[in-house]
Amino acid sequence: MKLSLKKVKIIGNIVGFLGVILVLIGVLVGENYDLLGKIIAILGMCGLIGDLIFYLIFWKCPYCYSFLPIKMFGMKYCPYCGTDLEI
Ligand SMILES: [Zn+2]
Repeated sequence: MKLSLKKVKIIGNIVGFLGVILVLIGVLVGENYDLLGKIIAILGMCGLIGDLIFYLIFWKCPYCYSFLPIKMFGMKYCPYCGTDLEI
């Protein structure tokens, strides 16, 4: 499976955002419904962990396959081989 870094970033951001939202909803719901709140918060955390693993697998330079630094903005070129990352 080949994903462009642009897609990795978009998917990662969406999943990360949903994970944070779910955790927040879980905390809010948990004030009234303890078990339901915990389940929602745990689902959100699973999403965040999955998101992290997704980044670890796909957040790589498409040319030299080096792991890129976790820097979401301002990175245009691979710091290792200088390739244009087209982000
Ligand atoms: Zn590179």
